[in-house]
Amino acid sequence: MLIFIGESSSSHVSPLSARLSNLNEVLIISGQNQTMKIDSHDSKGHAVVILFCLLALLMLSFPTHGEELVDATATYDTNNVFARILRGELPAEIVYESKFALAFHDIRPRAKVHVLVIPKGPYTNILQFNQNASDQERLGLMDAIARTAEIMGVDESGFRLISNTGQDGGQTVPHLHVHLLGGEHVQ
Ligand code: AMP
Repeated sequence: MLIFIGESSSSHVSPLSARLSNLNEVLIISGQNQTMKIDSHDSKGHAVVILFCLLALLMLSFPTHGEELVDATATYDTNNVFARILRGELPAEIVYESKFALAFHDIRPRAKVHVLVIPKGPYTNILQFNQNASDQERLGLMDAIARTAEIMGVDESGFRLISNTGQDGGQTVPHLHVHLLGGEHVQ
């Protein structure tokens, strides 16, 4: 949905940050080409304007993209975001790479150091990795975690490893990944 805020007397459309007190009118244009006009001079209009601004801010702060929870028994989805990073279709800030694993910065860091370490093979989670990965791949993942900790300078201060698995684990990306968190006391 697109939300435009503008003055009725001109065709100029102001940015969302425009001062509400200066507005004569608000236009809300939905995806179905419907147009709604709200007079921001009356108190009802003001309330609607403020509500939509708050909603827009909420939508920006909590992107829903890619946040569906992954089933622990799901078969591997070759189009998941980490598979696309591995194929070079999406950018990533790479920390370490080997024949068997890749480590890159989490796009939404939850600690000063927040790196994701993933195997290059097609495994949805740690259970599928344990069942199907070769010994070399297992060692490769372990080694990549240790090397990442060294590169990020947290091998002495310490760090936390987390691998969310399935619905109850809160897994959102269906490619095995280990969160490496550190650089501060991790809550
Ligand atoms: P989880 O909830 O354990 O499945 O964690 C998935 C993590 O992947 C989240 O911390 C996201 O911030 C992170 N993430 C999602 N997309 C990307 C991306 N394109 N690059 C880096 N990290 C990402």
